[in-house]
Amino acid sequence: MIYVHVPFCKSFCNYCDFYSEIAREDKFGRYTDQICEEIRRRKGEMDNSLRTLYFGGGTPSVLPLGDLTRILLTLEECGHGGPYTEFTMEVNPEDIVERGLPYVQSLKALGVNRISMGVQSFDDELLRWMNRRHSADGARKAFRLVREAGIGNISLDLIFGLSNLSDEVWEDTIREALALGPEHISCYQLTVEGDSVLAQRLENGEYEEADEELCRRQYDRLCTLLGEAGYRHYEISNFAKPGFEAIHNQGYWQRKPYVGLGPSAHSFSGRNRSWNDASLDDYSHTEESLSVEDEKVETLMLSLRTAKGADGEFLMANCIPGSIDLLLKEGALVKIGRRYRIPEDHFFVSDEIIRTLV
Ligand code: SF4
Repeated sequence: MIYVHVPFCKSFCNYCDFYSEIAREDKFGRYTDQICEEIRRRKGEMDNSLRTLYFGGGTPSVLPLGDLTRILLTLEECGHGGPYTEFTMEVNPEDIVERGLPYVQSLKALGVNRISMGVQSFDDELLRWMNRRHSADGARKAFRLVREAGIGNISLDLIFGLSNLSDEVWEDTIREALALGPEHISCYQLTVEGDSVLAQRLENGEYEEADEELCRRQYDRLCTLLGEAGYRHYEISNFAKPGFEAIHNQGYWQRKPYVGLGPSAHSFSGRNRSWNDASLDDYSHTEESLSVEDEKVETLMLSLRTAKGADGEFLMANCIPGSIDLLLKEGALVKIGRRYRIPEDHFFVSDEIIRTLV
C-alpha cells in the first residue's frame, strides 16, 4: 500500500485545514524530485501485498502528467510499479472539465483504475459558500468525462451536517449523486477544524455549528437512500456497490502496513506509526512506537467502524468487563458468528459505544 500526498490546491475550501500550498507551476518539479528521492530512500519499507497506490491531497489533479509519470517510473524502477490492484486518484471536478477527456484518458493509460471525486454538494450556493472551485454542473460534466474515458470505478465525496444545509437540499444532493450511478460514495459530517476559515467564522459569530439532531437526521436519510439504491454501508462514512469497497482504505482499517510519501503523509510499518513534516522544504520523517494499549484501542476503533466489526475473542480479552453484555442488551452491539459489530442504526454514535468498551 503506497500513498502519495500532493499538497497543492488552486484555492482553499472554508472547512479545510489540511496541509496544502497554493498550486503553482514552479513548485511541481521540485516536489516531484523530492518524492522520487523519497521512493528510492524508502523502497525497502514498501510492502507489495495489497498492491494499491493512492494519490491524495490536496488536489492530485493539478499535478502535470509529466510529473505523475516521473513518480510512477521511479516506483517501477524501485520494484513497486504497476499494474496495481487499485490505483486511485483524487480529483477536483473543475480540473477534469478544464483538462478534458484527453487528461482522463492519459490517467487511465498510466494505470489509474479508480477516481475519487470531491463533489461535496450539488447545490451551487453551498458550493460557493464552501469556496469550492466547481459548480454542480461542473461535477456532472466531470463525472461523464471520467466515465467516457472508461473508468469503471468512481467514488464521490459528499458533506453533510452544516447548519446552512437544509434537509431538502441534502436529499437533492444524495439523489443527484445516485442519478450519476457511482460505484462508491464517501460522506463526511462537517467538523470545524482548528485552522480553517470556518473556525474563524465560528469565532466571529458568522457561523453556527449544526446541532446534533440535524446531523443525525441527515446521516439517517443518507443511510436509507443509499441502502435502497443497493449500496453496502461497509464503514461509517463509506458506501459501495457490492464488489467496489475501497481496497486501499480497507487496508488502513485492517492495520495493514503502508508507506506515505510527500509532505505531511503518514505511514504505518505494522508496528510503528510515522509521518513527514508538513513542509515542502526538505520535510523530515518522525517515528513513534505504539504501546500495547495504543494498538489495542486502534484495532478496536478501526474495526468497529466497519460492518465486519471486531473479532469476538479480541473484544472479550480487551474490553472493560461487562461492557459487551451491556451494549448487546442496548442493541448498540450485535454478534454475528465470531464477530461483534455496531449495527448501522448505531453507527452515528459509534464513538460513544467505543468509549464504553475501553
Ligand atoms: S478540501 Fe481538498 S481541495 Fe479543498 S482546500 Fe482542502 S485539500 Fe484543498
